[in-house]
Amino acid sequence: MRGAILYAPGDVRVDERDDPKIVEPTDAVIRLSATCVCGSDLWPYRGIEAVDGPSPMGHEYVGIVEEVGSDVRTVKPGQFVIGSFFASDNTCEICKAGYQTSCVHRVPMGTLGAQAEYLRVPLADGTLVATPDVPSDDLLPSLLAASDVLGTGWFGAAAADVRPGKTVAVVGDGAVGLLAVLAARQLGAERIIAMSRHQSRQKLALDFGATDIVTERGDDGVAKMKDLTDGFGAHSVIEAVGTQESMMQAIRSTRPGGHVGYVGVSHDVELPGQELFFSHVHLHGGPAPVRRFLPELIDLIWNRTIDPGKVFDLTLPLDQAAEGYRAMDERRAIKTLLQP
Ligand SMILES: [Zn+2]
Repeated sequence: MRGAILYAPGDVRVDERDDPKIVEPTDAVIRLSATCVCGSDLWPYRGIEAVDGPSPMGHEYVGIVEEVGSDVRTVKPGQFVIGSFFASDNTCEICKAGYQTSCVHRVPMGTLGAQAEYLRVPLADGTLVATPDVPSDDLLPSLLAASDVLGTGWFGAAAADVRPGKTVAVVGDGAVGLLAVLAARQLGAERIIAMSRHQSRQKLALDFGATDIVTERGDDGVAKMKDLTDGFGAHSVIEAVGTQESMMQAIRSTRPGGHVGYVGVSHDVELPGQELFFSHVHLHGGPAPVRRFLPELIDLIWNRTIDPGKVFDLTLPLDQAAEGYRAMDERRAIKTLLQP
């Protein structure tokens, strides 16, 4: 089969890879209907994370079940399914508490490489959620968004304790930040302040439910946030970047007693203990347990209540994955959908 492989920073190629097979009796093999490039794929692509030899890429996937192992009970061949970036059993104590990305049996899907024609999914019963039927093509982008960016934005909003009537701020205007805006709207936020300097992204944020846009960053962004909230800061702030500047911007934009939900993959962030101590801010986040939210998100997409697929502003055949990476790296695209 064909699949994307990262050979070195900046060097992604779609090459021939071995066809995935059932290895464990709890596995499924799916034929991908759509896959995509994640903002987090750009860290190794840019050489900020080490590239350890040729690596299969991709961890976002939707598709049709081709084959299941002998112990798989809840999904069957022919079903359309969605999973997220960690396979999980969904039965251990941690999964039952809603933290499937810390499942005691978790498997990172990125190591299996979802930017491909086929994918082996471990722990299929716990990982995959089937849609009510095989969806029409126009629903594919939104269902694919549920695999990671929508689920991650949603977790950011949940971790930031977004509730009806609250003022919410979102730091970061990538796909996750934009979908955190959508999540905050669905969860009933009264006011949603999106922090973005890019016009096309501001427009999408407004489409998804943002009420205000702040273009300043860092300390200036914090000052603007305070201006907009009677000097208090927001009740809930979602951090969707993962840098020192964005994390401090999120913490300092939150009022005492408020919550930060951080879902940008942290890179070299160090938090000042004394400032945190006196901030009275709740911090929660990490790799989003997307599996917790999948049934609800699929339902909202299936009923056409939400349209998170709008974050895909570039669609390419899988064979042009390299251009998909380049476009995101150069910020010409928010997010690239790849068609196997
Ligand atoms: Zn588990």
